[in-house]
Amino acid sequence: MPGFFIPYKTEMINSNIIIVGGGLAGLTAAIHLAQKGQKITLFEKDSFPHHKVCGEYLSREVKPYLDDLEINLEKLKPKNLDRLLYSTPSGRSIEVDLPLGALGVSRYALDELLYETAKANGVEVLQEKVTEITFLKDRFKVTSSEGEYSAGYVLGGFGKRSLLDKNLNREFFKEAAPWVAVKSHYQLKDFPDDLVALHNFKGGYCGLSRTESGNINMCYLATYESFKAHKDPEIFNEKVLRKNPFLNNFLAEASPVFEQPLTIAQISFSKKEAVKDHVLMMGDTAGLIHPLCGNGMAIAIHSAKIASEEILKHFKTGNSREEMENAYKERWDKIFSQRFRTAFWLQKILLSENLAEISQTLISTMPFLLPKIIKKTHGEPIV
Ligand SMILES: Cc1cc2nc3c(=O)[nH]c(=O)nc-3n(C[C@H](O)[C@H](O)[C@H](O)COP(=O)(O)OP(=O)(O)OC[C@H]3O[C@@H](n4cnc5c(N)ncnc54)[C@H](O)[C@@H]3O)c2cc1C
Repeated sequence: MPGFFIPYKTEMINSNIIIVGGGLAGLTAAIHLAQKGQKITLFEKDSFPHHKVCGEYLSREVKPYLDDLEINLEKLKPKNLDRLLYSTPSGRSIEVDLPLGALGVSRYALDELLYETAKANGVEVLQEKVTEITFLKDRFKVTSSEGEYSAGYVLGGFGKRSLLDKNLNREFFKEAAPWVAVKSHYQLKDFPDDLVALHNFKGGYCGLSRTESGNINMCYLATYESFKAHKDPEIFNEKVLRKNPFLNNFLAEASPVFEQPLTIAQISFSKKEAVKDHVLMMGDTAGLIHPLCGNGMAIAIHSAKIASEEILKHFKTGNSREEMENAYKERWDKIFSQRFRTAFWLQKILLSENLAEISQTLISTMPFLLPKIIKKTHGEPIV
């Protein structure tokens, strides 16, 4: 019977489903499956709570699903983000209402809420780094910094890039990863609560929006090529970001909350597999959408839902492992592929200075186009 608990090796610690990575995807799947009676062990290499590089704009499409899982977002008092201000590097701007809107909530608070909810639902959370996942004779062996574990099923939610991807021989790991991202929180009284601003600069773009704490998240993505000449985020802010008049005003007036901004490099938007060596990949592990769309968190949560549903269906109907994996891949493609394509072209346009100015002119004359484009990068409320 699928999912039945059979020891693989007596000295190994056994679990029916192992989830690798305690970000949004991993924790959501853990909660979903635990609520359906599954025994879940989740590995997360870092301790909770912690800050993460992210724009912290959570599309409202996830709200009904999180409500179903009794993940009480209201408790965090997130900001309601209902307006988008977009500016080109030269400072030409346009403002529109967001079709569905988003919640401004820090990853520090959101991931911690999910972590506490997972534990309350009986998920075993181990603070260990997974170093290897191997599949043999219909069982997985998961090796971590602390030991070896065995499971019938493994879900991968270990983020954008990990040595595990290398160990699993994933193609994207061999390709260039030419992006850098920087995040910081700032204080500034005179910044609207309901606004998300997306400001373009040469070689990248920067988002600004408030989180539940009242602090303003400033998070940007830049090509490594443009960043490497300056290396230090503070110098990059001065020499590059401040050329956009909106960012210049913001940086002149706002005070940083973090001692140092968080920085990550080697970000890649290459295509990935939704299933690799029988591991169902979720969130960024299955594909990272360009952050200008503000949909990566929603995709992480939504992909956790479909992975959980397909595993539960497999247990219930007894369909084969292969059928279950194919069903997951098909649903993943059907739900997310179009968003990834739209995001790819949007990013190309925004990062070309000329195209950004031309598209700004186009949108200024036909402002109804922008909400339509935004809709194409987001999903409908998840039920
Ligand atoms: C610059 C930037 C801005 C963004 N802004 C937004 C935004 O405003 N809105 C939005 O919706 N999305 C945004 N995103 C995307 C969003 O941050 C991601 O899509 C989202 O975090 C994906 O969640 P996840 O659970 O897949 O991965 P993560 O949240 O990265 O979680 C992965 C977890 O796995 C753990 N892990 C990794 N390797 C191991 C291992 N070997 N063993 C154990 N644990 C491991 C990590 O510590 C981590 O906690 C942005 C992305 C970037 C780069």
